[in-house]
Amino acid sequence: MIQTIITHKCSRCESTNIVKNGHNKCSNQQYYCKACGAHRVLEPKQKYKQEDKETILQTYKERANLRGSERIFDISRITVLAWLREYVQKLPTLRETLLPVVPDDVLELDEMYSFVFKKENKNWIGTAISRKHRQIVAFVIGDRSEAICKRLWKRLPLAYRSLHTFSDFWQAYQNVFPKETHRSVGKESGETAHMERWYNTLRQRLGRFVRKTLSFSKSDVYHHIVLKWFVTEYNMEQSLLTI
Ligand SMILES: [Zn+2]
Repeated sequence: MIQTIITHKCSRCESTNIVKNGHNKCSNQQYYCKACGAHRVLEPKQKYKQEDKETILQTYKERANLRGSERIFDISRITVLAWLREYVQKLPTLRETLLPVVPDDVLELDEMYSFVFKKENKNWIGTAISRKHRQIVAFVIGDRSEAICKRLWKRLPLAYRSLHTFSDFWQAYQNVFPKETHRSVGKESGETAHMERWYNTLRQRLGRFVRKTLSFSKSDVYHHIVLKWFVTEYNMEQSLLTI
């Protein structure tokens, strides 16, 4: 018979005076060190490789939810969110993803309802899409006020501000966007169809934007981070299609 005896040590103080101390949420054995008081995982898993991280994040962008990732990959959702945060910080800015403006392009504007934590906490998403490039030129998150509409206008790169714009009949658009280039139209005109269609894509891909599900944002920070991630990568994909 071959027997192997392993003596575990505290990863902080190297003491062997440690005892088992329950399991964490991912069912990993934890210990308590009587010498230094540390509570840690007994046998930490190997660190994830960059490509594994990207695969797990990618599944999240295909309607998997964070708890689903926890179950499938046996990984804490806190860790996935930390990766996401780090990943989004390294992405280019939205402006850097935009293709050069084409003079006869048109911007379609619209707003979509979403909420954070509870339905009463409405977080409208306002967006402008380029009809030629199918890229999101600017987006904002906030209440449905004129101020948010102004923010959307200010976020448009200067080169895009001279383009013709179409929106629904929400008064704020008429107050903020220049009268010479802006037109308010009904949905039946089809002039905002690309923007409306994009919201379907967003809802199809990210569970937290789907109505009447248990997937929803619990914090404003991640509501913004996830949308920024989706929009930026969407724009990058669109620019590759155009080349
Ligand atoms: Zn210790």
